[in-house]
Amino acid sequence: MTIINEEQQQNQMAGHKQLRHKSLLQSDALYQYILETSVYPREHESLKELRELTEKHPWNLLATPPDEGQLLGMLLKLINAKNTMEIGVYTGYSLLSTALALPSDGKILALDINREYYELGLPVIEKAGVAHKIDFREGPALPLLDQLIKEEKNKGTFDFIFVDADKDNYLNYHNRVIELVKVGGMIAYDNTLWNGSVVAPPDAPLLDYIKYYRDFVIELNQALAVDSRVEICQLPVGDGITLCRRII
Ligand code: SAM
Ligand code: CA
Repeated sequence: MTIINEEQQQNQMAGHKQLRHKSLLQSDALYQYILETSVYPREHESLKELRELTEKHPWNLLATPPDEGQLLGMLLKLINAKNTMEIGVYTGYSLLSTALALPSDGKILALDINREYYELGLPVIEKAGVAHKIDFREGPALPLLDQLIKEEKNKGTFDFIFVDADKDNYLNYHNRVIELVKVGGMIAYDNTLWNGSVVAPPDAPLLDYIKYYRDFVIELNQALAVDSRVEICQLPVGDGITLCRRII
C-alpha cells in the first residue's frame, strides 16, 4: 500500500473536493434537487446534526451522503432487518441511519480501526436514543471477522452487512461476510464506482488514492458479477453501491 504523509493526503482531499458534488450524477443542480426535494425534508434531526458536525471534520468526504443514508434506511425496513453489521464507521452517518431504521431490539456490530472518529458522532447517536443497538469494536476488521466465523453459531445470522472500509480488502471481506449473512440477507458494498475511475483509461490523471484503490474496486466488481452465491444490483447512488442478496 502507498504511504503518503498527512500534507499530501490533505492536498489530495482538497483536490477531490474541487470535484464539488459527491454524487456521480453529471449535474450538481440535479443532485441538489434530489437532496432538497426528497432527502433533507425527511432527514432525521439527529442525522442532520451528525452530517453538519461531520462537515467540519477534515476527512468529511469519507461520510455517507444523506441520499444514500435514506436508501439504506429504506432497504433495512423493507427486509425487516434486525441483526446487522457495518464495516467502516467513521463518524457514524450510515451507522445512525441504520440504527434509526432498525426496531428497538435491533443490533449493529460496528467495526472500525479508529474509535476517535466514532466518538465524535457518538453524543449525537446517544441523543437520538439508539446507542443501545450498537456494539462498536475497535480494530482491523479482517481478524474480527475471522474470529466471528470461527464460531459456527455466528454463521448465516446477519440480515444486512454494510461494507464501507478499506477497498483493498473488499474481496477478503466478501469471502468472510458471505458466510455470516443469512441466505436471503443482504450485503452492500459501498463506493463500487470509485469516483467514476472504474472506466478511466489506465493513464488517466487520477488522484493517487483513487488510482491506488481503483484496481481493487474493479476486481471486486468483476468477482461479484460472476459470484453464483449472490444476486447483485449495482446502483449509481453516492459513489456507487452494490447490493448482494445471498441465495445459497
Ligand atoms: N460508513 C461511514 C459513514 O457513513 O460515514 C464512512 C466510512 S469511511 C469511508 C471508512 C472507515 O473505514 C474509516 O472510518 C476507517 O477508519 C475505517 N477503516 C479503514 N481500514 C479499516 C480496517 N482495516 N478495518 C476496519 N476499519 C477500517
Ligand atoms: Ca463510502
